[in-house]
Amino acid sequence: MISVDEAVARIATATKPLEAVSVAIDESRGLVLAESVSSDRDVPAFDKSMVDGYAVTDSDLAAEASSGGTVELYVLEEVTAGATPTQTLTPGATTRIMTGAPLPPGTGAVVMIERSTAAGELVVLDVTGVVPGDNVMLRGSLQRAGAEALAAGARLGSAQIGLLAELGHAVVRTVPRPRVAVLATGNELVPAGEVPGDGQIRNSNGPMLTAAVDECGGAAIDLGIARDERDDLRQRIEHGLEADVLLLSGGVSAGVLDLVPEVLAELGVREVFHKVQLKPGKPLWFGVHGFAGHDFGTRSGGTLVFGLPGNPVSSFVCFLLFVRPAIARLAGRADTRHTRARLVDAFPRRRDRPTYHPAVLDESSTTSTVRLARWRGSADLAAFAEANCLAVLPVGDEVIAADTVIDVVRS
Ligand code: AMP
Ligand code: MG
Repeated sequence: MISVDEAVARIATATKPLEAVSVAIDESRGLVLAESVSSDRDVPAFDKSMVDGYAVTDSDLAAEASSGGTVELYVLEEVTAGATPTQTLTPGATTRIMTGAPLPPGTGAVVMIERSTAAGELVVLDVTGVVPGDNVMLRGSLQRAGAEALAAGARLGSAQIGLLAELGHAVVRTVPRPRVAVLATGNELVPAGEVPGDGQIRNSNGPMLTAAVDECGGAAIDLGIARDERDDLRQRIEHGLEADVLLLSGGVSAGVLDLVPEVLAELGVREVFHKVQLKPGKPLWFGVHGFAGHDFGTRSGGTLVFGLPGNPVSSFVCFLLFVRPAIARLAGRADTRHTRARLVDAFPRRRDRPTYHPAVLDESSTTSTVRLARWRGSADLAAFAEANCLAVLPVGDEVIAADTVIDVVRS
């Protein structure tokens, strides 16, 4: 049986970022930019005023000392944002100017409107302490035309999208959201909205996995519930193989109706590994379909196929450890959910497999701490609903002492 690290490495080998596509920026949130983006113009594109006030020449500012801190100037015109000045500023004159409006040639500084007193066609300005350049934003001072504003690989959040809009990029090349099909398998399953009959249970993995896919930036496609019958499985799996990733839950253990690996093999899905040394989650199955090269070197529309254990907790742990990093990689990102924290209470190790235990990570103080949640074994999904991470408890014979720093995976 391979280790968790080996399994993660084999999945990573099979996973390359998806081919870039063009998208409108209002659909780009969370995506990774696949091209370098530069400005089509200087920002700002003209010298502009940063306040409502009066544009003055440097020589009128210099004359202030001899006039007791005030100057009396003739008002040439008024320029509002979006308008253009028609007159050049000369000593003795001023232009009344609004925030964001282009400055007339000859401007040295802008004096705030609060420092003005109107006197007919004249205005008296208190220019005490005003120096050349005050309240003026020079052309190109924020961004030069042609200079890179965002590099390829940048994650697009609201600030980046605002910048793209400012620089005239309404459509950009991005790595698309991976399409992830989710198929629950099992004769015992009914949809969440139904009352289970004898021996039946509700399908919790389907809604949990589609939510988890959306949460980590994938586009989930819900394929519903397949019966433990070859034909039904085959038909739904074939559909799922059109996606970038197919997540199956259930049917990968050693039970008589665990048909998933067989059906996948019949459909040409090549097994990369089956079973991983961890608890919970040991039955995990992983394979690939439709890849061009045997070394997975060139990804041409292939599908990564995960057979997750049916047990909801095992399914969830396998998603966090193996599927989430794969979705991130397909989307051109790194999965950065791992950290380390100080264990609050001592815990006995297990001898056979490393355990991924539901826990609460507290990062509010300088050293993060992790407290194990009360957990009643593999079927206890409620324990995970209270937790915000997995605490990684390595194998060994002795007790892990309180205050030991351990690995943690945020959920
Ligand atoms: P399996 O791997 O198919 O043998 O399933 C292992 C356990 O997980 C069984 O108790 C199943 O009833 C349960 N299980 C399988 N699929 C789901 C599901 N979609 N939602 C909730 N429990 C499930
Ligand atoms: Mg089953």
